[in-house]
Amino acid sequence: MSTSESGSIFEHKEQPTLALEAPTKDVIEEDDIQTVVVDGNPVRMDKLGPLVINTDGTLARINNWHEMTELEQQKTLRVLGRRNKQRLAKLQEEAGLDAIEKIGSFCQNATTRRRIFEAFYGGFDSSLDEAALDLLRARRKVAEQLGFRSYADLEMAPMAVGDEATARRWMDQCWQEAQPTMSKAVKKMKDVSSRGGSKGLSHVDQMFWRAHVAREIDTWRLSEFLPADKCLPSLLNLVGKAYSVTFREVDGANLLTRLLSGWHRSVKVYEVTDGPPSAVKKAGRGKLGYVYLDLYRRMSFLGRPAVELAGALRLCPGHAYLSCNLPGVGLGQGSKLLHPEELVGITHELGHAVHILCHTGSPQEFDDLPLDVLELPSTLVETIALHPESMTQYAQHRDNGSLPPGDLLRSCQRDSHFFVRVLQNCSVSLGLHAEDFDPFKKTAADLREHAISLWQRYSLVEADPAFTPLGGDAGLNVGHGANHVAYLLCYLRVANILQKKGSRKDAARWLQPEFAGLLRSQLLDQNFPSERMAAVQPTLGKQGRELPPHPLPQLPSSTLLLFQQLAQ
Ligand SMILES: [Zn+2]
Repeated sequence: MSTSESGSIFEHKEQPTLALEAPTKDVIEEDDIQTVVVDGNPVRMDKLGPLVINTDGTLARINNWHEMTELEQQKTLRVLGRRNKQRLAKLQEEAGLDAIEKIGSFCQNATTRRRIFEAFYGGFDSSLDEAALDLLRARRKVAEQLGFRSYADLEMAPMAVGDEATARRWMDQCWQEAQPTMSKAVKKMKDVSSRGGSKGLSHVDQMFWRAHVAREIDTWRLSEFLPADKCLPSLLNLVGKAYSVTFREVDGANLLTRLLSGWHRSVKVYEVTDGPPSAVKKAGRGKLGYVYLDLYRRMSFLGRPAVELAGALRLCPGHAYLSCNLPGVGLGQGSKLLHPEELVGITHELGHAVHILCHTGSPQEFDDLPLDVLELPSTLVETIALHPESMTQYAQHRDNGSLPPGDLLRSCQRDSHFFVRVLQNCSVSLGLHAEDFDPFKKTAADLREHAISLWQRYSLVEADPAFTPLGGDAGLNVGHGANHVAYLLCYLRVANILQKKGSRKDAARWLQPEFAGLLRSQLLDQNFPSERMAAVQPTLGKQGRELPPHPLPQLPSSTLLLFQQLAQ
């Protein structure tokens, strides 16, 4: 015997009655290794006998297999099948969304990619659809009581699109106008994958070929140029320039000050003043307030997460708390290296912080702003920070401080896939909350089918049978409501703000004081009247009242700019 627990399978003295039942054997594969199914449990076999799975996942054999009688072999197979299955179950990791993103994008083995895909989406059974249906029913009731036909209409009312039907028409237009770049991108992926021997482009493999064509692996190499401690001060300078404010770190984190203030030692505290650094020196120059930047995920003494989910919070006038919830520094890594997406996340929250501090109205007025206004300063500054020219202002190699090469900078730029993915997720959450999906007349199975068709509406590949959009970001969106379309509206406005016709398209323009001045006066310092929100909530306003106009100018009539950014 060469198993790690020697002889253990023979210690089971089975009753003869059991042994007399002939095990049902089905040969699944015919190769050097076969899989024999015994009592429903698969056992892998080759000419040396069955494979034993040890508790640590290694494989072993039974040395005296060929000396056994057939009856003994049958008994052994039964015990082995049952035990292998138990041990495998213990060894299996749950496949999370992270596994899908990383294995789906970078694993060379198509079989592994498919297995992970199926294992992940297989984890979402009908109980999820049931829960979603319950939620949709509760929301439909709320919407109807407030005088709306659907929850989507309620959530669209304060935003620039106004209602569900207009939002849908606008999204259809996005998809239409994304076609030229999307079909070109998909054709390229098909070409590359066919050279790799695949026929067509499947849903499961789409992510892998996209990452391959877009050289997404370079985003990880780019991280070497984004050490958090070195980049953060320059990043704050950049945000400061874009919005004409100055960040100055105060209260160096030592035990005494933090014992007094109560902030964890890893939280960075910044004082924010109005105007560029040169203006700060002038006495009495306006202080806007403080930003508390909480970068990393922590556990409390009780083993629970001690940090909020990523987001910006107005603590009280003049104090903004930002939680980024990033995974901490890897063991032996020295300084935290930021992935470009993490950097985008930090910058996004900083945009919220500046908005919170600049806003001149009451906290209630701030919270009442439509989501497509609230998210604009954050999406704007994250887009500015992601621009290759901006990145050269803060990216530097962790060892020698050198600038990242151009192809690495291009690797993290958003392409049409990025926006189409947002479009698909919005489509699911908007469509499930829409009037024509009546949650009181539908079943959980209807919900799943409808969610897939809403995803499919904006896809060039056929949805895989194992797939449910609720397993991914679309599920999170549905949890929040129907209003995710706000982000897409913001991305479009940002593309238009930054690429105005006839103006310079380089980052230098956005970082000029004139540009920052316009952003401040037209967006950040504005105290938009909050009546719009009150008007859609009869408990606060009067029912049936005409809605005041949306605080921002009309949406651009074309969405082309959204998909053309990558063409450069
Ligand atoms: Zn945000």
